Amino acid sequence: ARQFTRPLNDLANQFNTFLSAVAGAERVFEIIEEEPEAKDEANAKAASMVRGEIEFRNVSFAYENDIQTVSDVSFHLKPGQTAALVGPTGAGKSTIINLLSRFYDPAEGEILLDGLNTRDLTRASLRQQMAFVQQDTFLFQLSIRENIRYGRLDATDEEVERAAELANAHSFIRKLPDGYDTVLDQDGSGISQGQKQLITIARAILADPAILILDEATSSIDTVTELRIQDALYRLMEGRTNIVIAHRLNTVRQADVIIVLVEGQIIESGSHEELMEHKGFYYELVQSQFERVSS
Ligand code: ATP
Repeated sequence: ARQFTRPLNDLANQFNTFLSAVAGAERVFEIIEEEPEAKDEANAKAASMVRGEIEFRNVSFAYENDIQTVSDVSFHLKPGQTAALVGPTGAGKSTIINLLSRFYDPAEGEILLDGLNTRDLTRASLRQQMAFVQQDTFLFQLSIRENIRYGRLDATDEEVERAAELANAHSFIRKLPDGYDTVLDQDGSGISQGQKQLITIARAILADPAILILDEATSSIDTVTELRIQDALYRLMEGRTNIVIAHRLNTVRQADVIIVLVEGQIIESGSHEELMEHKGFYYELVQSQFERVSS
């Protein structure tokens, strides 16, 4: 479930070299917004302060014309609800995120945010309503402080540190010789995978968006960091509409709605209890050691 990270990570790699020469995250933001992409519609409006209601209405999409990647997908999330996307590799989980964030637009059907067709919204304003927390963390070759501040560019140092505290990142950052001024290497090497995630969580907490997109990590991280991440994630998810590409049964169980995708189609959806009762694909998945089967 890493396809949707590609656009962002490509950008990060492309600009990282250049970025080390420019000061401050504001420039970073401008550069990313300038990335050539499909133009917004002429009358596109800026989304602001959304409640986070998400609806997919009969959405179909193909990356290439011949193979339909997502077929007739419909679901509805009320503000504050959590959906878990579950299904085998290549089922279309990341594609749904790509469509929601408009890295691509549906061929058929529509996607509504607070009842508004997302096609009528500018891409930049749409994405500002969302934070992405993913396995392949997106970090700049800038200080930890600037990396967190990227979540909200006008945040004060105090706000940055407060977000880091909520993300359980403050204590490890404080222990680094340069603390918040530690400049990360390319791809954030120099700190651990788990620490990178905590920084991304801090960034998302600072951004405080209505919608959170979470691509749950599959790679093993030491237990202590793992617990810190889980704890920070629960805090981050609270009060938002969350879409989780889920790999853990624990996360899935707690979702308001589990959406089971197979070959681009929703084959079943409902709560954990409902789907267990239904004894379909999800039930089988749970029976056959969830974490290994769902990739
Ligand atoms: P995984 O769990 O392995 O990440 P997924 O459920 O997220 O899988 P998607 O990444 O949405 O699945 O992929 C759905 C299908 O679309 C796959 O067949 C994949 O190869 C294809 N696909 C994904 N991204 C692209 C792309 N940018 N261009 C062409 N085909 C793509």
